[in-house]
Amino acid sequence: MVVVMSPGATDEEIAHVVARVESVGGEAFVSKGVERAIIGLVGDIESFHHLNLRALPGVADVHRISDPYKLVSLQHHPQRSTVWVGPEGAQVPIGPDTFTFIAGPCAVETAEQTLSAARMAQSAGATLLRGGAYKPRTSPYAFQGLGEEGLEILASVRRATGLPIVTEVVDARDVEVVARHADMLQIGTRNMANFGLLQAVGESGKPVLLKRGMTATIEEWLMAAEYIAQRGNLDIVLCERGIRTFEPATRNTLDISAVPVVQATSHLPIIVDPSHAGGRKDLVVPLTRAAIGVGADGVIVDVHPNPEEALCDGPQALLGNELRELAQVVRRLPPAVGRAAATVRS
Ligand code: PEP
Ligand code: MN
Repeated sequence: MVVVMSPGATDEEIAHVVARVESVGGEAFVSKGVERAIIGLVGDIESFHHLNLRALPGVADVHRISDPYKLVSLQHHPQRSTVWVGPEGAQVPIGPDTFTFIAGPCAVETAEQTLSAARMAQSAGATLLRGGAYKPRTSPYAFQGLGEEGLEILASVRRATGLPIVTEVVDARDVEVVARHADMLQIGTRNMANFGLLQAVGESGKPVLLKRGMTATIEEWLMAAEYIAQRGNLDIVLCERGIRTFEPATRNTLDISAVPVVQATSHLPIIVDPSHAGGRKDLVVPLTRAAIGVGADGVIVDVHPNPEEALCDGPQALLGNELRELAQVVRRLPPAVGRAAATVRS
């Protein structure tokens, strides 16, 4: 923390700040410039907050220089983390050495639709299956998902395909039932700042996929991750899924720079959702290329056996030629940036 004194601050006022800092066990380093003095503080930042330094005579401003998040920061854990998803003996990595391809339907609609989407995903090279049983829709009249029945369908499709399941939880009361069926719990954009839900998934014992709030800054997103970490769960993967801007050509604006910005400050893996970012199937392949190029640890993509009939997000779902093209991109491009395909650890 740095305390900036006003230009006319007296020696007594400076000494008073120093004494207050030392009274809570901190150290204060005074540096006097031509115009004004600044005081660098070293010690426990929480105890400095209680001092109300901004209110002291002669103080012009107070700046925090260390990150407000701790457990998820690179300072706390200098190596980038790998999160393993799936049952013992069939775990899939998401981390710095590999590129993980997650695919599946936006929503679980029927057993047949989910199984055929899963087979499409698997034949395109996906090693994890996505699919929502609880759908957080903007409209309360839109399809809300099959709930527990959807979880059971996902579990049966995992038995049929061997693909571990990533699925969303929207309510803290459902965390237990979702964690019983799923391998990874997804927190969607609309719930990124639902702190009770974040704490509940932090206690679930399952890896968490934390999507960025559509209006959240990167710092707010990392603070949301800190809520999960603080409950003892550091198996967190971040997902950039586009933010809301003035541009109406795409559903959201993919903030591709979020990937290296996050990697410079946090050890958590980060993947990209090109489907929900663009909201258009023609953008999924180019945005996936961008994600690989910028250093993302994976992508999560919507596929559907019949997008025209999809109950949710049909316009962004891939099949046929587009999915074949995506499969080539995720197979060929990651090795060019030093990443292997994410295969199962047995
Ligand atoms: C989803 O992945 O199904 C979803 C609803 O995404 P988001 O929360 O990013 O809108
Ligand atoms: Mn969707």
